[in-house]
Amino acid sequence: MTPTRQGSFRLFEFRGIEVSLHWSWFLVGAYVLTSRADEYASPFWNVAEYLALFALVLLHEFGHSLACRSVGGHSDQIVLWPLGGVAYVAPPQRPGAQLWSIAAGPLVNVALVPVLYGALWLAGERGLYDTQPDFMEWLLTLNFINAILLAFNLLPIYPLDGGQMLRSVLWYFMGPANSLLVATVLGFLGGLALITYGLLAGRLWTAVLAAFLLFNCWQGFRFARLLRAHLAAEQARARAEPPPVP
Ligand SMILES: [Zn+2]
Repeated sequence: MTPTRQGSFRLFEFRGIEVSLHWSWFLVGAYVLTSRADEYASPFWNVAEYLALFALVLLHEFGHSLACRSVGGHSDQIVLWPLGGVAYVAPPQRPGAQLWSIAAGPLVNVALVPVLYGALWLAGERGLYDTQPDFMEWLLTLNFINAILLAFNLLPIYPLDGGQMLRSVLWYFMGPANSLLVATVLGFLGGLALITYGLLAGRLWTAVLAAFLLFNCWQGFRFARLLRAHLAAEQARARAEPPPVP
C-alpha cells in the first residue's frame, strides 16, 4: 500500500535522487485550484499555492534523503503522492543513524518557520496587506501549511516521523525489535484515536489517512514480531555453537 514507481512519473534528479510525481497529485492540484478559488482575486495565486505545497513537501523529503546519506545510508528516490511525500531511505541499522534520517525531515520545517514568518512580518511591515492582498494570503497559507506539516508529522503514530523517532529512541534501551513493537502498538492506539476523531468530526480525509496509517502500523507490528523471532533464533544458535579451537 506504499507508493511505488507505479503510477508515478519522473520529474527530475538532484544529487542522484530521483523525484517522481504520482498521478494522484493532479487530484490535489484540482482540489487546491478549485476549492480555494475564492481565496484569491487571481487564479495565478492558486497555482502558486499548489507549487508552494509541492516545494514544502519536497524540501521535507530531501531532508530525510540527504540526512540518510550523511550517515552512510542509501536514498535515491522520492515520490510525491497525495498523502504527502515518501523518501525511500535505507539508513544503517543503528538507532542514531535512523533517528537522524527521520528527524531531518521535520527539522527542515522547523528551520522554515522563522524564514516564512520573517517574510510575512517583513511584508506586513511594508504595507503589502493593502497593496498586495493576494501575495499576503499566499504567504499566510504557506506559514499555515508548513506548521500543519510539522505538527502532523510529529504525531507519535508509526509510521509518521514522530512514531519512527520514538522507535529510534526506544531502540537505545530495548533493541530494534522490541522498540518497533512498542512504537507500533502505541501507533495503533494513536491511529484508532485519529480515525475516531475523523469520523466523529466528519473529516473524511483524516479518517482515510488514519486508516492508511493503521494498515502500515499493522505491517510494522508483524515485521517487529518476525524480527524478534529471528534475533532470538540467532542468539540461540550463537549459544549452541562450540567455542573456537585455539
Ligand atoms: Zn517525514
